[in-house]
Amino acid sequence: MKPEHAQLLTRLIEQHPYLARERSRYPLHDAIHKAQSLHGLEPENMEELFLEWPHLSNDQARLAYTRTPAHGEADRQTVTTLGKYLTKCFPTAKSDVIRDIAAIYQGAGCQFTERTKSAYINAVQNGPSSCMQWGHLTSESEHPYNVYAPELGWHMAVNIIGEQICGRCMCLEYNDEKIFVRSYHQSPEGTYSPSDTVLEAWLKDQGYIKKNAWPVGAKLEEIYRNDGDLLMPYLDGNIQTVAHGDGAILIDPDGSMSAEATNGTFEDRETCDHCQERCSETHSVGSRGYTSVCNYCLENHHSWVYGRGGDTYYVHDEEAITVGDHSYDKDYLDENGIVLIDKGRDEGEYAHQDDVVTDIHDNRWSENDPDIEYIQHGIHEGSYVPSDETWVCEGSGYTYTDDDESKEVDGARYHVDFEIAETGSEEQSSEVPHAND
Ligand SMILES: [Zn+2]
Repeated sequence: MKPEHAQLLTRLIEQHPYLARERSRYPLHDAIHKAQSLHGLEPENMEELFLEWPHLSNDQARLAYTRTPAHGEADRQTVTTLGKYLTKCFPTAKSDVIRDIAAIYQGAGCQFTERTKSAYINAVQNGPSSCMQWGHLTSESEHPYNVYAPELGWHMAVNIIGEQICGRCMCLEYNDEKIFVRSYHQSPEGTYSPSDTVLEAWLKDQGYIKKNAWPVGAKLEEIYRNDGDLLMPYLDGNIQTVAHGDGAILIDPDGSMSAEATNGTFEDRETCDHCQERCSETHSVGSRGYTSVCNYCLENHHSWVYGRGGDTYYVHDEEAITVGDHSYDKDYLDENGIVLIDKGRDEGEYAHQDDVVTDIHDNRWSENDPDIEYIQHGIHEGSYVPSDETWVCEGSGYTYTDDDESKEVDGARYHVDFEIAETGSEEQSSEVPHAND
């Protein structure tokens, strides 16, 4: 949009709130852009055009617009033919130009191709861009669309504008139904192709039904490539798996082959060892990687752990032990310095060996446990001993264990080697706290 037009539109939206509503509901009718880009036409009255905000009508076949701002406030739109509106909007344009533009949107170019694989492949190769448009095709027989055999009911509808195949849609006659799943329309950017609404409207007019998947049991021709792999297109729709059938390949939601590849063959679907569902991708888990699970099970039931030989990998949550910010494979805790605390406040919990102390009975305690003590005197000097096996010498204030010999003097417990001075001795009173202090 030209800058002055963008400014005009901004001003009009400020003056007419209904315009913001219309603009959010519908893009401006593409025919207006086509008239400008293909034929160099300019709307006679840009302000009027914006206020009318012409767009594709809900029946997808005509044009709807807001006749007056009052209609806009009342949310009333007027439906007309595309030709009539274009004539009003571009009054100086020749009638045959108007007719050409309108034809693009009215299905005038819609038709079925010949029922030959050649014609189908031509529509794909020379039509709107898609993942099945192969730049490197050396022979038509390589193309995955060869599986859409005419005798199995497959046929191709195209929307031709000028000389160009602007839209295409694979169709199927199956069990007395006429079906299509996905149409492709050439987009100006040339990358992603949106649906061809005109072609789809035309097909529906011909009695076709749009489905979200090809019917279960529909057949594709069984063809093998030079490398021996089965030839397979990317299947449109929600069912993208196939199975071997009686002399054909069948559309089958439980099929073991996935038709989601763009390289012309299938991919094996895998089975998740955890949920037993088929999936397109699995990940190996466990220390030896013999178990494969799907994405869902990996994310919801597995943990990333340090394990065998210091390796990291996924294991089932039940096989993982979490300590702090990391998890560990239950089977390889020792290798990773993880030990079980078997005494005290944190009994039964796992911890890193650096945070654990072992007492004289070979029991492991959390380093911070208030009931374990580091002994600095006596027989167990330099060891950890449970607090309930210790006592304090009244004389020295040192902590000893029950294995250290003690003596009792005047109801107080002293280490056997502690020399108790005479009461009143000046030397001793400074070292031994007075009982009444
Ligand atoms: Zn699973």
